[in-house]
Amino acid sequence: MMDAALEKLFDIFESRGKSLYIVGGAVRDMLLGEHPKDYDLTTDATPQEMEGWFDEVITLGKSYGTIGVLMEGRVYEITTFRRETLYTDGRHPDGVAFTDDPREDVSRRDFTVNGLLMDRRGVIFDYVGGLRDIKDGVVRCIGSPEERFDEDRLRKWRGIRLAAEKGLEVDDALRKAIEENPTTEGVSVERIAQELNRILMSPKVAWGGYLLVRTGLLAELFNRSVPAFVSRCEDYLIDSFEIMVGQPAALELRLAALVLNMLPEERKTFLRAMHYSSRLTDQVLKLCDYVLVDCTDVVKFKGCLAELGRQEAIRLLEFRKSIAEWNRDAACAKKVEANIQAWQRIEAAGEPLLLSELAVSGREVAALGYSGPEIAAALNRLLEYVYLHPEENQRDRLLARLEREDHGKTDLA
Ligand code: ATP
Ligand code: MG
Repeated sequence: MMDAALEKLFDIFESRGKSLYIVGGAVRDMLLGEHPKDYDLTTDATPQEMEGWFDEVITLGKSYGTIGVLMEGRVYEITTFRRETLYTDGRHPDGVAFTDDPREDVSRRDFTVNGLLMDRRGVIFDYVGGLRDIKDGVVRCIGSPEERFDEDRLRKWRGIRLAAEKGLEVDDALRKAIEENPTTEGVSVERIAQELNRILMSPKVAWGGYLLVRTGLLAELFNRSVPAFVSRCEDYLIDSFEIMVGQPAALELRLAALVLNMLPEERKTFLRAMHYSSRLTDQVLKLCDYVLVDCTDVVKFKGCLAELGRQEAIRLLEFRKSIAEWNRDAACAKKVEANIQAWQRIEAAGEPLLLSELAVSGREVAALGYSGPEIAAALNRLLEYVYLHPEENQRDRLLARLEREDHGKTDLA
């Protein structure tokens, strides 16, 4: 069950008379029958002691008692057993105190399913009732949810994220504690955005969304930047997450569904307040702006495909499809299907979409006597013409057309 690198780590600690356990997410995932994506380990050895044992140590948070060890291309995070200290900022412990008792270490952890220890033989040490909760499939706080959330308000997001990612129920007391006090004051937007993204991308996104809405945690987040949206649209928030169920797992699609009911200005404000990259923000805004575009207006349709770019154009069609499916609207679904077919036909025929795909260049237009902004305008007129008549995308024909236009012989309508 253990890989060679882990065996080696256990040997190193054992030969020095120190204990070492796998802890947290890795133990949880193994018990849930999943392959852990990384391993957190915990020990009674101090960071100073451990540093001397390895050729290469990555400092991860030495003051928190965590070092990273690189073994066979993977980083293993090893944290010295810690005891709970005071929290006064609503997010971080004021200080760090080490202990040699693993029981103390697990009791400061967030949820019972994250509080299990496993030794090298695969024996589980459960001091928090985590095994029962794994079996029942429940996220439950270690200790009183109110107190644990007061210490670190990010745990509210972590709990719902865990439920959504692993398809777990949440304990009533945990849920009630968030409902009664959803504040996350003191938690950075970047950390919340990370949790939100993971919920949006999780297999049980509708469940995660339901919990976010019903506990008031999502409204609390929206209240930070777009309070008017919350008072207008609270009732529709759950719908957004149900749309996501029919979408491929792409963050821009999920975010587009989340903000679709907002006013365009609110979308921008929210996405910026969350510090999403300008590229992602731009993609999401465009998906929402173009959601109603239709292939029956060829010029608009192709212009939209050109502006989005091929990859995002596919996303737009997926976005529309997810909304139609959620609406169970047959007419709408048919329209979306027609759009997808139109797009596939355009792709298959290699019909030009971009100015760069036009058979004439700006220089050739300039040679006809156009200058300055006239050049771009002429090229755009030609592109529109070619949108309607792709077979006309030939250098001689387009130049001849411009010449005729110049002499007022043609009407380009
Ligand atoms: P994943 O790696 O899948 O996100 P994980 O449970 O390993 O899940 P980490 O963020 O890697 O999550 O944290 C490792 C462990 O540290 C957790 O399992 C938990 O025991 C503890 N932990 C992490 N964050 C907190 C927190 N805010 N409060 C209390 N304990 C925490
Ligand atoms: Mg982890």
